[in-house]
Amino acid sequence: MSAHEPILAQLRNIGIIAHIDAGKTTTTERVLYYTGRTRALGSVDAGTAITDWMDQERARGITIVSAAVSSEWRDHRINLIDTPGHIDFTAEVQRALRVLDGGIVVLDAVQGVEPQSETVWRQADQYRVPRICFVNKMDRIGADFDRAVASLRERLGAEPAVLQLPIGAESSFEGVVDLLSMRAVRWADELGARREYDAIPSALREPAATARAELIERIAENDDALLAAYVDGVEPEPEQLLAALRRATLDLRLFPVLCGSALRNKGVQPLLDAVVDLLPSPLDIGPVHGVDPRTDQKVERQPDAKEPLTALAFKVAADPYSGRLTYVRVYSGCLRTGMTVHNARSARRERVGRLVRMYADQREDIEEIGAGDIAAMLGSKGTRTGDTLCAPEHPVLLETIAFPEPVVWVA
Ligand code: GDP
Repeated sequence: MSAHEPILAQLRNIGIIAHIDAGKTTTTERVLYYTGRTRALGSVDAGTAITDWMDQERARGITIVSAAVSSEWRDHRINLIDTPGHIDFTAEVQRALRVLDGGIVVLDAVQGVEPQSETVWRQADQYRVPRICFVNKMDRIGADFDRAVASLRERLGAEPAVLQLPIGAESSFEGVVDLLSMRAVRWADELGARREYDAIPSALREPAATARAELIERIAENDDALLAAYVDGVEPEPEQLLAALRRATLDLRLFPVLCGSALRNKGVQPLLDAVVDLLPSPLDIGPVHGVDPRTDQKVERQPDAKEPLTALAFKVAADPYSGRLTYVRVYSGCLRTGMTVHNARSARRERVGRLVRMYADQREDIEEIGAGDIAAMLGSKGTRTGDTLCAPEHPVLLETIAFPEPVVWVA
């Protein structure tokens, strides 16, 4: 993190979930590009910088395939957790959903909700993961924002909170109207680095006013304080609206919807704003539950650095440079280099060697990971995917179900 470590409220652990081909990879790449901490967006040459950067990334093969990548946006740390591409009820999907606190659901603006999105949506419901929806590919022939929004309602029974109206569609898609601020947002260059804000185009003024009224009504219906003011005819302040929308999003009562085209570099920054403004921090998620393996008693741990350590190893990956990378999410306490932790599955102790935070274009050695945060342990041998690491004197097991190890078929 630049000058300071973010506090818990400034952490976002999120996953991008989508059916195949909706644009998950492209959206992820754009998110990493805009949040990249070493690239100065203003200085990149227009045009090919994103693709050049992606090619370099692919050549180095580090991070786009990383299980968790850290990045920064508006003083918040966003840990982007990879969700498996195949959407089924495997342990891997369940584990990914368990580790993340919020999700971006990417939909194709032509297809709307597809069968695979339905499956993952139900799984995210089961794990109570708050979500925002990104209607991607607004530049495609046949793109239809309203139809995609309707499909959220019809196929998923979700209550969408439409935050934007597209300006144009297909090849003339050029920006969005932000319904909270009632401004038009356009992208002034091919990289989408420069945003311009101006008045809403005259043809969209009326539809935007109607859509805004609907949005406010929807938010008010879900918020008692706002509803009282609304009934009295008081126009709510933007911050009030945002706070009420956030509460409804965290409760899974509303699903904010934005649109754009990741490929054309349009709409990704407002999506990042929505992640910061509307998705939960580990503090919003509250305590984690497990069992004490000695007594089988339920254990609750708060997302607090002062609590005993509770961490879940959610992915073990082979690393070409340093052997094994064990990705962990710390739920409570702190994981520090040099400390001895207890593995609640194997009942063995392990010394924590190096800890690294994975960024899009580098990794950084760190001394400790605090509650709510995610990073990787290097060279850890005894820890498997699904293991709980905890303070030796306060053992806790988070995953009691024995997940099968992935089977490798040898031809
Ligand atoms: P994933 O399978 O969900 O990871 O999808 P990808 O990001 O690989 O995208 C699938 C295809 O859709 C690729 O050919 C992308 O170039 C294309 N694509 C992604 N985003 C957009 C978009 O905003 N507009 C258009 N027209 N194509 C897109």
